[in-house]
Amino acid sequence: MSSMMQPQIILLKEGTDTSQGRGQMLSNISACTAVADTVRTTLGPRGMDKLIHDDKGTTISNDGATIMRLLDIIHPAAKVLVDIAKSQDSEVGDGTTTVVLLASEFMKEAKPYVEDGVHPHSLIRSYRIAGNMAIQRVKELAVSIEGKSLEEKKSLLAKCAATTLSSKLIGGEKEFFASMVVDAVLAIGHDDRLNLIGIKKVPGGTMRDSFLVNGVAFKKTFSYAGFEQQPKKFLNPKILLLNIELELKSEKENAEIRLSDPLQYQSIVDAEWNIIYDKLDKCVQSGAKIVLSRLAIGDLATQYFADRDIFCAGRVTEEDLQRVSSASGGTVQTSVNNVIDEVLGTCEVFEEKQVGNERFNIFSGCPSGQTATIVLRGGADQFIEEAERSLHDAIMIVRRAVKNSTVVPGGGAIDMEISKYLRQHARTIAGKSQFFVNSFAKALEVIPRQLCDNAGFDATDVLNKLRQKHASGDGANYGVDINTGGIADSFANFVWEPAVVKINAINAATEAACLILSVDETVKNPKSESAQGDAAAMGGRGGGGMRGRGGRGMRRR
Ligand code: ADP
Ligand code: MG
Repeated sequence: MSSMMQPQIILLKEGTDTSQGRGQMLSNISACTAVADTVRTTLGPRGMDKLIHDDKGTTISNDGATIMRLLDIIHPAAKVLVDIAKSQDSEVGDGTTTVVLLASEFMKEAKPYVEDGVHPHSLIRSYRIAGNMAIQRVKELAVSIEGKSLEEKKSLLAKCAATTLSSKLIGGEKEFFASMVVDAVLAIGHDDRLNLIGIKKVPGGTMRDSFLVNGVAFKKTFSYAGFEQQPKKFLNPKILLLNIELELKSEKENAEIRLSDPLQYQSIVDAEWNIIYDKLDKCVQSGAKIVLSRLAIGDLATQYFADRDIFCAGRVTEEDLQRVSSASGGTVQTSVNNVIDEVLGTCEVFEEKQVGNERFNIFSGCPSGQTATIVLRGGADQFIEEAERSLHDAIMIVRRAVKNSTVVPGGGAIDMEISKYLRQHARTIAGKSQFFVNSFAKALEVIPRQLCDNAGFDATDVLNKLRQKHASGDGANYGVDINTGGIADSFANFVWEPAVVKINAINAATEAACLILSVDETVKNPKSESAQGDAAAMGGRGGGGMRGRGGRGMRRR
């Protein structure tokens, strides 16, 4: 009790660095702007890619989240931007550059006010209100694509996917990949597991050699002698999925055996052989024509199956085995005893096919149909890697659009419209808040402006035209025309984005800006600085800033 009564004396460790007040806020804002500047040029269909070289190799990417992750930012405040890019990536899958740009622009607009001594909380309050109004407005403007026929819906979804892909390296083939993505997403139906869509990368060939398998495909696994004698194609085979080794194992690893007579040794060896033959027999008796196992299938088993016209593959990855399981309706067995018919899967066609330099095991026409695999082809490794990331974005977008099927016009159209709406609203507010809401509205224009800058257009000119058009009342859908450098009806040109991308981006960017504006002190503990990576740990999203004064260093996230 008495200890609680004592006044607390706060002492910082030697070398602890604290910076406070306005200077600190301004420096945080500058750091965030610097981060946004690195991804700025990647926005939009004419955006540039970034080549990032680190100890893990070289990555070429246009994806905001990927770039932010690889940049390895250590500035504590700027890390918040990395976080929102990541969360945008996992929540909606697209709009990662957008969210970073918006957040930094919100802060940049706030900078003059902070310099003039405006209390951040007045700013934050106005920003929050403006953010909510913006989101409300996006929801109002969103157009539903519900109630269309399947064919119509398909082509609408393909357009959403094409918009996402148009900013990527594979943008040149966007129609080709967009329809592939839509087919893949529709194939898995309403299942939420993203890993039901597999993407397999096979270097070589051209992009157009990529194809979609309505089922599962995976690279031929390591196999033993005898494999070539196995049949490589089946119609309606039964598929047995295992999680056991089918290998001749010396049982000394499992048991200790004491012999009194050397002659008994032979019986031990025989027993070992009997165990494996027994297992193999049971596999064959199950009636399965295809045996897959997550663990090794040895040479003895391979030959045994070959003699009985059965196909086998060992060391199938967990993920692939799961996908075969959900596609074929089979269940993975951990024992070969009592394999009943119900646990066997099936598919219409199984085939082993040559794709480029690789051989693929392909299961198509699966009964539950809930899987799809995209086999990606292309020149360089980095290229295929980036293509995979781009397809991931497109897949996410189509899934979003299928789920909450509302879209908004892209190309900066929606941003301009919201901006206009907020400006109008600002006029009705009395007091300082008017300026802040206005600044928020102005910040939204960063999207069309950046799209122009990246395409080499005169941004001021295009923005003026856009403002005029939107003010005229009937131009709500007008955005940047990326082909001519003028303005065009984005909606009519099918530059669409799912509404949820914008909603999430505005929400996350506003939150991040408010969070960083609410921090006015950073405490750097020399110890945590030396522990790599921890130095940057910031107080998290609590919003309350940092309370690291106790000399205990900072909270870890
Ligand atoms: P993000 O990581 O934020 O998704 P992108 O590089 O994918 O960034 O760019 C997305 C922006 O590009 C969106 O604002 C979208 O509306 C715009 N965009 C995409 N395709 C076009 C197009 N054909 N014409 C104009 N704008 C487009
Ligand atoms: Mg995108």
